[in-house]
Amino acid sequence: MPDTQQIALTFDDGPAIWTEPILATLRAHGAHATFFLIGSVAEQQPDLVRRIAGDGHEIGNHSWSHPALARECDDERVRDELQRTNDVLASILGAPPTRFRAPYYNVDARVEAVAATLGLTHTRGDIRPPDWHLGTKAAMIAALVLPQVESGMIVGLHDGIPPGTRTPSGTRQATADAIASIVPRLVDRGFALVTASELLSAEN
Ligand SMILES: [Zn+2]
Repeated sequence: MPDTQQIALTFDDGPAIWTEPILATLRAHGAHATFFLIGSVAEQQPDLVRRIAGDGHEIGNHSWSHPALARECDDERVRDELQRTNDVLASILGAPPTRFRAPYYNVDARVEAVAATLGLTHTRGDIRPPDWHLGTKAAMIAALVLPQVESGMIVGLHDGIPPGTRTPSGTRQATADAIASIVPRLVDRGFALVTASELLSAEN
C-alpha cells in the first residue's frame, strides 16, 4: 500500500468546453486526473488534448464513436473503435494511451482481450454519480462522492457529451462546479489526487 491516501478522479466523453474549468481547478490544487477522450472529438481539438497532457494528467481511450462495445460491436469493430482513437492520440501526443474506459462501462472479457492486443487495459469506476443526467446538480454530485470516497477508489465523472447525444440544453457545468468543491475538500482531508495509472500501479 502507498504511504499516502490516493484517489483517482476520471473524466469521460471529452474533450469539451467543460474540460477547461476542470483543468483550472485541478491546477489550482496540484491535483492530477485521467481524461478518457472520444477519438473523433479529440481529433477536432488537438490543442486542448495537448493542454490536458501538458498539465500532467493521464489521457485514456474512450473509443472513437462511443458505442456499447460489448453489446453492440463485434471484434473487428471493437478493434477499430480503439485503434483509431489510439492513432489520433498518438499523433497528437507522441505516444498512444495505455488505458481505456468502455462507454457505459459496457466491457467484458472479449472486449478486454481485443483491447489488450492494442496495449490497452480497462479502467474501472468505483463511484459513478449520474452526472451525465441533465437534472443532476453539482451539490448532488458532491454529496454522492464525498461521503463514500475512500483511499484507492476511482471516481468516474463526465466532462463532455458524446457526439450524437448532444442537445441544445446539454451541459456538464454541474460536473465542473462539483469538481470545484470536491477537489479542495479531498485535498483538505489529506488525499493525493493521482492518475488512474498511478493509483493502480500502487495497488500491485
Ligand atoms: Zn462515455
